[in-house]
Amino acid sequence: MSSALLLGIDIGSTASKAVLLDASGAELGALAVPTGHDPRAAAEQLRAGLLAGRADAGAVRAVATGYGRAMVEGVLRTVTEITCHARGVRHLHPDARVILDIGGQDSKVIRLDANGLVQDFMMNDRCAAGTGAFLDVIAARFGRKVGDLSALHAANPEPLEVSSTCVVFAETEVVSLLSQGKRLDDVLAGVHRAIARRAAASVRQLGADGPVYFSGGVALNETLRREIELALGLPVLRSERPQFTGAYGAALLARD
Ligand code: ADP
Repeated sequence: MSSALLLGIDIGSTASKAVLLDASGAELGALAVPTGHDPRAAAEQLRAGLLAGRADAGAVRAVATGYGRAMVEGVLRTVTEITCHARGVRHLHPDARVILDIGGQDSKVIRLDANGLVQDFMMNDRCAAGTGAFLDVIAARFGRKVGDLSALHAANPEPLEVSSTCVVFAETEVVSLLSQGKRLDDVLAGVHRAIARRAAASVRQLGADGPVYFSGGVALNETLRREIELALGLPVLRSERPQFTGAYGAALLARD
């Protein structure tokens, strides 16, 4: 077996992530930066951040994934996010059969066979209101961090209907509800429920009868996880460090 370090680089539409493993697959570090307007620069920033000061930085086997993967230089190969998420989640959770990945601009549902191979998948990049982009816009509108949204509303809000599938219209809907005097709690609960319903509909369409493993940056939102669970009637388990599962899968694939 090669003694090279293994580097997985996931250039997402919103965030770029990388995971560094040693030759045995043990994790040495993980890093995330905004993708910004230059995916190549984001990849270089990740590589430099993880490899700086390492005497063994000369021998690295790297695999790139994510929407900007073709822009990454110095990699062995590029692999789709579907394969990388499948590999990453399955390695961390050997029983996983259905993965829901919600990122900054798209969402995916992936079904695996008993051996962990991708059996079927569905990708939705048409409806940004079902992705992190909607949460990002709402957070910005209220001057909050996206990581705080989940906790912003009270324990028992009454979710309001937010039905637009386009982020711009959905934001207008939210503003209009607030201008009618609706409570922020209920509006935010409505935003979470709207995203959860879309995610649950996609999972149902592909088919699931057991636990769903939730990955991607949006899986950090606990309210959303719970809402998807309610909408689906199935356990929804947050995959370990969900934003890094694609990069982790890519690093594991660099070993093959
Ligand atoms: P992509 O790979 O498509 O760029 P990610 O899987 O990295 O996307 O997810 C990015 C999204 O994750 C952001 O748009 C944001 O909405 C969400 N996100 C990032 N950090 C958090 C957090 N701490 N809590 C909740 N959501 C988050």
